[in-house]
Amino acid sequence: MDKRLIIAIDGYSSCGKSTFAKAIAKELKYIYIDSGAMYRAVTLFCLRKGYIGKGIFSLEAILSDLQNIHIGLIYNPDIVEYETFLNSENVEAEIRGFEVSNFVSRISQIPEVRSRMVEMQRQIGVFKGIVMDGRDIGTVVFPDADIKIFMTASVDIRAKRRYEELKGRNIEVDFEEVKRNIIARDIADENRDISPLRRADDAILLDNSRMSVAGQMEWVRNIIAAKRNGS
Ligand code: C5P
Repeated sequence: MDKRLIIAIDGYSSCGKSTFAKAIAKELKYIYIDSGAMYRAVTLFCLRKGYIGKGIFSLEAILSDLQNIHIGLIYNPDIVEYETFLNSENVEAEIRGFEVSNFVSRISQIPEVRSRMVEMQRQIGVFKGIVMDGRDIGTVVFPDADIKIFMTASVDIRAKRRYEELKGRNIEVDFEEVKRNIIARDIADENRDISPLRRADDAILLDNSRMSVAGQMEWVRNIIAAKRNGS
């Protein structure tokens, strides 16, 4: 049997990491973990509790309630997708909305939130056979991952993809607002003190601005085969 791998996919907001990671996981019959969904679920919890909001950021309240946040990523065979659960409630749709997107980069800067998420992510990775996407997977969560990919694409292409995705989910959005949010998250993610978004030294760069998912799959199959052949 083939060795079970850990595949880490990091990169900028909305460059198709999850689509790509899901396709790889499906092909290899691996678990797919969307680490961004975990930070989004924490953000939703804090928004609902009023710990964060416009002009509000109550770090003390967030930290004191952190132990009460339980996140599950559960596969739903009916829709052939993973869904995010926050304290047993399916929050998959809500965490993708604009409010969460606007606050998530502030929540993901909190060291205690990060260490809790990283601990959960490493636990899931114990059994290997996993594709995880995020911002710090190859640098912090799994520095020894078998394959590390760092994805990017032009801002306009990313904004267009995100806009189409939200429209497809019947979420009303303005293109310029989507673009502003992507740029703001990139800046926040790259410049935070802890686990900033950066390409690991041994990550392979993938600019998918002009690549289809099928093209990306072809590209990654070669990388997986090379890894399995020991090169
Ligand atoms: O991947 P997604 O865009 O859903 O991630 C939402 C946010 O969660 C990112 O903008 C980033 O602030 C945070 N995040 C992170 N580390 C990860 C994954 C996501 O800080 N591994």
